[in-house]
Amino acid sequence: MYLIMGLAGSGKGTQGELLAQKINYSYLSTGEYLRQYITEQRKQEMLAGKLIDDDEMIKIIESFLESQTDRTKTILDGFPRTLAQAEWLYKLHEQNKIEIEGVIYLKVPEEKLLERLLIRGRPDDTKQAIEKRFSEYKISTEPVLRFYKEKSIPLYEIDGDKDIKGVQQDILQQINKREK
Ligand code: AMP
Repeated sequence: MYLIMGLAGSGKGTQGELLAQKINYSYLSTGEYLRQYITEQRKQEMLAGKLIDDDEMIKIIESFLESQTDRTKTILDGFPRTLAQAEWLYKLHEQNKIEIEGVIYLKVPEEKLLERLLIRGRPDDTKQAIEKRFSEYKISTEPVLRFYKEKSIPLYEIDGDKDIKGVQQDILQQINKREK
């Protein structure tokens, strides 16, 4: 299992899907899932750039993993996003129910992200919601990166400030280097 992390607009969805196709893994974006199956209350939270409740997120991942024949052959985009989510997933790893093979961290400067997001123009891509998502990332999601690092899960830091193909090649190269 690979976890794709990065600030809003860093290319998690695009790169996650490309990687899934390439290595024949299944792919789940929690953000995409929420946008499809969302309740009105949650919609308001997402529009404001707030994170959705941990228990709810864990349930979504749990049922997704149950539906998979090979749970390790999975790419998660947007999960875990809090320490509680990260710890929950790590427990499954310790119990050998999954194997977290690595964290792919897409790094793009904030000013570039702002540009990308305002062009993308999703309903939660307003200046205010973007700022909220950036701050949620720093407060809640950066500790996730530290947590997995402490647990010696491989961390692949990727320069996400390149074109789609260039980023994809870097990801594949880093992953393959590790496997050899
Ligand atoms: P994304 O598509 O990854 O940018 O996610 C869009 C929004 O979905 C986020 O701003 C959150 O409101 C919500 N979301 C997605 N994944 C999670 C998660 N793992 N935990 C909490 N909220 C999430």
